[in-house]
Amino acid sequence: MADLPAALRAAVPGLTVLDDPDVMDAYRRDQAPGLPAGRPAAVVMPEDTAQVAAAVATAAAHGAPIVVRGAGSGLAGAANAVDGCLILSTQRMNRILAVDPAERLATVQPGVINADLRQAVAAQGLFYPPDPGSYEMCTVGGNAATNAGGMCCVKYGVTGDYVRGLEAVLADGSVLRTGRRTVKGVAGYDLTHLLVGSEGTLAVITELTLALRPAPMQPRTIIGQFATTAAAGAAVTEVLASAADPSILEIIDATTLRAIEAWQPLGVEADTAAMVIAQSDSARQDEDLRLIEAAFHEATEVIVADDAAESEMLMQARRLAYPALERLGATLLDDVAVPLPELVALIEGVEAIAAGHGMTVGIFGHAGDGNMHPTVVYPHGDAEAEKLAFTVFDEIVALALRLGGTVTGEHGVGLLKRSWLDRELDETARRTQRAVKAALDPAGLLNPGKAIA
Ligand SMILES: Cc1cc2nc3c(=O)[nH]c(=O)nc-3n(C[C@H](O)[C@H](O)[C@H](O)COP(=O)(O)OP(=O)(O)OC[C@H]3O[C@@H](n4cnc5c(N)ncnc54)[C@H](O)[C@@H]3O)c2cc1C
Repeated sequence: MADLPAALRAAVPGLTVLDDPDVMDAYRRDQAPGLPAGRPAAVVMPEDTAQVAAAVATAAAHGAPIVVRGAGSGLAGAANAVDGCLILSTQRMNRILAVDPAERLATVQPGVINADLRQAVAAQGLFYPPDPGSYEMCTVGGNAATNAGGMCCVKYGVTGDYVRGLEAVLADGSVLRTGRRTVKGVAGYDLTHLLVGSEGTLAVITELTLALRPAPMQPRTIIGQFATTAAAGAAVTEVLASAADPSILEIIDATTLRAIEAWQPLGVEADTAAMVIAQSDSARQDEDLRLIEAAFHEATEVIVADDAAESEMLMQARRLAYPALERLGATLLDDVAVPLPELVALIEGVEAIAAGHGMTVGIFGHAGDGNMHPTVVYPHGDAEAEKLAFTVFDEIVALALRLGGTVTGEHGVGLLKRSWLDRELDETARRTQRAVKAALDPAGLLNPGKAIA
């Protein structure tokens, strides 16, 4: 593939093409540990759709695989390079093309950082809800390609719920427009939501039309500490069964709380088995908080924030959850989701798996939608421990499937969960997925080896 960089420079005027192996090293993998990453033949940074289309057509003519890369913040190895591939970075496609307050729409290039979009629309009294924890670095194109979630999903849903339409470059370099600007529209297959979550395996997203909402109220936070996981789970169920409309409903287990207390003490009682954190950003916030407090009736302690500053302080525990576990060693972050009635069974099952292997596993996540992040912690640079960590990780995924859940709630399949698709999907579903891939990418050049079984 030595002539791919030269061919790209010749075919696409003005395109930034990198081929220095040391420089390209930074573009080889995402944030998932322990997964293979190949050596790219070239990295390109197109600035518009025409450059993407020409780069894809050139790579296809050379038979080179194409791996699209947003910010590389993924946690499933989905953006990892394969040998001889073209890495197509969207980092220079970072323009917000339009914000329309009347239609409540934004049109953006895929490399726009999530936080930049949120800030830009907030200036017009609007709100772009999808809020992955990585929002200050990840791109909206990456968010659409992984159908990213975050903390607000319990009320606002996931990225795909805000994608009205897409422009995308297909594997042969042609440009596809899907979807619409209008709220309604049922003409043809829903190709927009076929591409959402497709992890760069079906097309390169080059423009997104995104729905916005009116800005919500400044959220207020409430936390409850519980002596048993079952009591915390019951509180979550009661909140969801009530008339409250929480914008966040999160849970943190005892292992994670201990890691936080050891680092930045927040005054969590030593015998707390779980903490539940909720927020309301609705116009009837006082009523929401009253209902949530009532649902926390088994809590050993409840704190309701009076103002924005106190709300932020109470959110600290949730924000510190993953960094606190990371301080303990290398981490392997899982992303399973289970039906809500199985939340406590999942947490208690993970605790039993951890104890059985003598491993540390902290659990935190989105209680309101059943999406948990059990995080296996093991010593840095210890190959045996890493192997055991993957065994524990697999047992957790198997548990989630037994409980009627899914192997990935929001991080995607990538390389990490590929073998698990065989377990989650039946043969008809796998065959259908392969048929879709073959129809859109017959030569199998777009992100090969990722996302589908
Ligand atoms: C600290 C931290 C917190 C996180 N929190 C969350 C969370 O709360 N919720 C959540 O869902 N995820 C979370 N993530 C995971 C990650 O940030 C998301 O998956 C995010 O959507 C990836 O965006 P990205 O721009 O970094 O994409 P990348 O990692 O670069 O790519 C991800 C996938 O999308 C494809 N892709 C990227 N851009 C395009 C495009 N334009 N066209 C086609 N395919 C494309 C890539 O090929 C790859 O398959 C977190 C990650 C970190 C490091």
